[in-house]
Formats: sequence, structure tokens, C-alpha cells
Amino acid sequence: MGDVFSKKEEKSPTRNLTQGARNTNLRINKAISKSTPDLLEDQKPRRRKFVKIGNIKVSIIQGKIAEENADVIVNSVNSDLDLETGRGSKALVESGGDAIQKECRENYPGGITENEVAVTNGGNLKCRKVYHVTLPKWEDNNKQAITTAMTNCLTMADQYRVTSLAFPPFGSGYLNYPDDILTDTMLQSVVDFEQLFHSTSIESIVIVCHRTQNSVFRAFERKTRELSGTVSQGGSHSCKCGNINVIIQKGTITKQRCDVMVITASKDLKLRNGALSKSVLEAAGPDIQTACDNNYPSGVDYGDVAATRAYKLHCRFVYFGSLPDWKNTSDNPQQVLTDFITNCLEKAHSHDTKYIAFPTLGTGALKYPPDVMTKTMESCIRKFDLKHGDTKLQHIYIVVFDRSKDCMVVENALLKEFQVSRGLTLKMPSAPPPSVEPSAPPESPAPGTPAFFLWMYNYQDKPPSYWSIFGPAKSLKEWNSQTKREPYKLVKVTRQIETAVSKIVEETWIPKYVGKGRDGAGLEDLNYTKIQVTKVERIENTELFEKYVQMRGKLFHKAGVLETPFDQLGDLPSGVKKRKVFTTVKADKSVFTDVYPEINEHYLFHGTQEDRIPTIATQGFDIRLTDKAMFGAAVYASESSTKADQYADKKSERDKSKPKKMILLRMALGEIFVTETEKKFARPPCKSCEKDKCTDSTHNSSGHGSYDSVVVDGSWNFREFLAFDAAQCYPEYVITYQRV
Ligand SMILES: [Zn+2]
Repeated sequence: MGDVFSKKEEKSPTRNLTQGARNTNLRINKAISKSTPDLLEDQKPRRRKFVKIGNIKVSIIQGKIAEENADVIVNSVNSDLDLETGRGSKALVESGGDAIQKECRENYPGGITENEVAVTNGGNLKCRKVYHVTLPKWEDNNKQAITTAMTNCLTMADQYRVTSLAFPPFGSGYLNYPDDILTDTMLQSVVDFEQLFHSTSIESIVIVCHRTQNSVFRAFERKTRELSGTVSQGGSHSCKCGNINVIIQKGTITKQRCDVMVITASKDLKLRNGALSKSVLEAAGPDIQTACDNNYPSGVDYGDVAATRAYKLHCRFVYFGSLPDWKNTSDNPQQVLTDFITNCLEKAHSHDTKYIAFPTLGTGALKYPPDVMTKTMESCIRKFDLKHGDTKLQHIYIVVFDRSKDCMVVENALLKEFQVSRGLTLKMPSAPPPSVEPSAPPESPAPGTPAFFLWMYNYQDKPPSYWSIFGPAKSLKEWNSQTKREPYKLVKVTRQIETAVSKIVEETWIPKYVGKGRDGAGLEDLNYTKIQVTKVERIENTELFEKYVQMRGKLFHKAGVLETPFDQLGDLPSGVKKRKVFTTVKADKSVFTDVYPEINEHYLFHGTQEDRIPTIATQGFDIRLTDKAMFGAAVYASESSTKADQYADKKSERDKSKPKKMILLRMALGEIFVTETEKKFARPPCKSCEKDKCTDSTHNSSGHGSYDSVVVDGSWNFREFLAFDAAQCYPEYVITYQRV
């Protein structure tokens, strides 16, 4: 007991590599798999190459994909999903049976687009599911199609906790993609995916080239060799925790050069009894056991520190301590951990040391959850820093044992807790020096308080917590520093979000207003009473969201300076309807998180024609391009889906047959000016004189002295919500629906 190592170590083919090679995230190796019964007809063992990308093992083999034993077999097929047309899909049907084709026809009667994945069962194949994707023929540089297909398959597989997939070489054969480009793009997609999803469920990807596809197989061989030559950043990551440098390092703690080495041991300090203390005993020599026996004859109590000299180790002191098993709650393991870390730091401070190295305390056989360990480390270090502003102890290493099976999980928990971005870069020639990150933000004050508003102004720089491609693991600036990527991703939302968005659409629908009013002209003749949501997608555009977050931050700043939340719609004196925002009333609060009513942030509908949506998703709204509008040039939004539906098609080209789209956007309204009458606004009016073109310098009408938005609440059927700065809006969801 007392060891931090996991007793089970996975056999890894990289074990015979040198230490240096082991520290890279990308590994290559060659192995020849034993011929399996299903391959006997080939009369030769399959040649197999593999490269390790993070935790994903990517193997390249020659053989028959239909015979692969994987959770998911991926099939490249025509967009009409006719499986009889390609050699690969034909072979799948031969082995898997007609059920696969039948399922395609039934569930995807219209086929699929290049951005979609059709999922069927595996029939008689040795897989659970088949993912069908479609690629266009090769034209100049449309390798993006491969990236899209790969990313869609991997993202979907991850969502369903799939562990293994088999891919054909995408675009090979009659689609005519050049070998070098398709191999490069496929492998790069895996690298990019792994970078975004460190803790993915996917463990194995097999790319199966048919035995006639020698040239593409050789291209994969070349590419995997290249990958093996590149070195990722790996190694160490450093960040500031207060004034203290925290360095998260992969390796073996006994090899760490430092002043103090922290080691867990059994309570009786018999070093042979724990894996980590045993390795210390071996590295330091038997004198260290003698020192323990002489100075601590009754061992060490939980939470206390037993300090010895280091003998043959590369440090000055070794601090031993003992932790109870995580499940022994009667020993209060969390408190013991806190006490032990704090005591180590205090002792290192009193020993006038500069460098201390901790293992990932308790995360091995003692089963402490990695996030508990990381949170405890972080808070102990922070408290220590606050208490000893002038300490010499400026460098804290946290050494993640690189051969433990939970190494990645633990490392990721640390990087997340200390807010370090990993920055795995494929084409890095050698390891750069560790980057120093700005200090992590302090904890968020209680929501609704002026301190909270200013905190939001200063520190809010993350995508929403539920974004899945460009998620909150990185700041918006970090995402936006990555060059060479698409401006946005259209992401399939979870069932839960889809249900919640559909609920808002349905419950804000007002049938009696269909076709009413000037903008509803032509709809009455279509004879429909409701609309049905068929698809909900999320626009993840970090550049656009960064602008939005900046604007939201300014509004928080204003609320912080004014020391009060803004008046809510419904509490304001003017207006005819004078009620709360309808969409917000209907929004499921457990789904629509990261929304701030304190600054009047609301989800609202924006009706627009389908062909304008890609532009909006790329660059956001552009008020300068607004047509003549009743209340001035602004982004117009609505709290009723009926209103948004009026703008889904031209008045002269109304129809009920084609699917339509609308956007559910976030709008940060800030301080709201309510108007009951028709008036054109150049900008939100001044709070002192209520003029939109106020020029009185004492009114500060271009700063905190003006309203931030206008809500039209008159005798019209619908209220309208107007933002005069496009940055006040983020178009988050694209809703596809049908008039029925
Ligand atoms: Zn004024």
C-alpha cells in the first residue's frame, strides 16, 4: 500500500524503445500480425504498420475491410447510398447481407450529403455499426471533403463511446484522389481530432487497403514513417499559480532534478512495501531506509512528513508521507491529502528550497480520482502562495508517471485544472521551451454581485461549456490562435439540446398570427398551423464568439460600474405587452446554460432565407448590409417562432413543401429602451434625453450614458428586439423545420 503506481502495466510494443522516443506522443513501430483464420485465403500474413497518435493506435493493413473485427466499419459510397456501385460497398453487402442496403433505403431515402454520416447496423459483419459517408470526385484541392468525412465519423464514434473503427483509404480508386494527399489528409484528421478530444473513447483505427491497392498502402507507409520523425511538444507544460511556477512533467519522479522529492510510502516507512518508495530505495541506496528506521521508528502518521537526506538521488531532501486508500472514508483521505501537500510545502519553505517535485499523489493503486488530486494540489499551492508571498519555493514540479496506464487521464486533469493548453503540434521539429501561461483567473464571485460582473468582464474568455468541437478546454484566444482551419463548424447537437430548442420553437408558435401583418404576407394561403423542427445544428465559430464575449464583457463592466443588474424586460414601466421574454420563459434552464440574465442576455429567433445562413455563420450579422427597416439599421430578433418564419422565404415565393431554416441567436441586450411607437433609431437612445443622436457631452451617450438596445413593444402583434451592434448577437443554432 502507499504506492502511486498502478500495479497493472499494459504491455506496450514501445517498451523496447529508448527513453527519448518514449517521450514523444507519436510513435511508430512495425509488427507482423499472426495470420488469423479469416485471412488464410490470402495465404500470407497481412503486412501491418502502425503509428500511435496520442492514445489512438492507427494501423495500416492490406486485406478485406468487410472482414475487419471493429466496432464500426466505415464505408465510402455514392451519395444515393446505392451499395451495389462501389467495390468496397459491394463487398460489405456480400459479407454483411442485404439488410444493410435495406436500412439505407428506409432511413435515408434521399441519400446523404458530403457533410453527413448514414448509420446502419452491421448485419453479418463483425462490427456493430457501419458508417456510410460520401465523397466527391477529386478536383483541385478538395481534400477538405476527406477531412470532413473523417472528422464526422470520429466525432460520431466518440459520441457513442466507440473504441475501434476500420476505414477504407478515402478517395482511392475511381474517385481519383492522389495517394499522397489522401493519406496525408486522413492521418492529419486523426491528429487534429486527437488534439481536440484527448480523452476520446477511440483506441484503435485500422485503415484497410485492399490487397490490390499497393500504391496507396505504400503511401501510408511513407506517411507513418514521416509521422514517426516528428516530435510533439509532449514533455512539460508550465503555468503560473499565483507567483509560483507549476510545471507539469511527464516522466519518472526519481529522475527529476529538484531540491525536494515528495514520495508516498506505507505508514510504517518500510520502503520495499510500495512501488514508488521501492524505486526510491533502489535509486537512493539502503542508507535511506536506515535513516527512516532511525528517525521515524514508528513510521509516519497520515498527513505528516518524514524528511530524510537524498543519498544517491539528484535532490537534497526526500519527504515521505502516507495516504489512506481513497475508499477508506473513515480516514478522511481528502483531508489527509490536503494536509500532506500543505505540510510538504511548508517544510520545503522552512528548508529554504527552490524546487519541489510531487508525484500525482494517490492516483495509482490508492484510486484517488485525478480531478480530486489536481484540485487539491491547485488549492494548496494557491493558499501557500498567498501565505508566503516572499517564499524562495518558486518551482513546483508535478511529475506524471509516463508508464502508468492512466497517465493521459491524469495529465489532462492537471492541464485542465491549471489551465494549461497542451498545444500538441504535429510539425514541430523539436521540443520548444515550455510556455509560460498568464496566471489563472481567481474563482468566480457569487453571481449577480458587482464583483461577479467585473470578474466576468476580466476573465470570461471561454466557449460555452457544452460546445463540443471548439470546447471550453481552451480559451477563445487559444482557439483563434490556431491558424489554417475553417471559420466555423456546424455541429450536430445532442438529443437533449435538440429537444430543448424544439420546445422553444413549438411553445412560442402563435398560430393565429400566421400570415398576419405586412411581413407575413403570402403565408395565409399555405394553410398551415404549425411548424415541425427536423434538425438542430450549432454554429461553433470561436472568432465570432470572441467578439460576442467581448461585447458581453463590456456590458458586465457597465453593470459592475453601475453596481446593479440591468432592469429586466417585464419590470420596465413602458411598453404595451410588458412581459418577460417569451423565449426565455420557455427555455429549459438546465440546457441553456452560460446565459446571463443580469445583462439581459436572451435567446431569440432570427428569421432569414436559407442561402444567407452560411454567411451569417462565417462573419456574423452585418448591420451595414441591412435593408430599409422600420426602426433603423439593426439586427432584428423575435421571441416568437411565428415571426421568424415570416422571413424564411420571399413573400413572392412562399411554399410549404421545402424545409425552411431559422436561427436561434444569443442577444446581449444590456440596458433596454422600450418604444411603443414607430421611430427610426440610429443607435440606442441616450438615457438622459432619450435622443438617439444626443450630442450633449455631459450625457456620455456613447458610453455608459446610453441604452444598449431597443425593444419595440407597441400595438403590433409581435415585440421586436433590436441590437445596433452586431457584436451583441451570436447566431448559435440553425433550426431546420417544415411547415405542416
Ligand atoms: Zn442625451
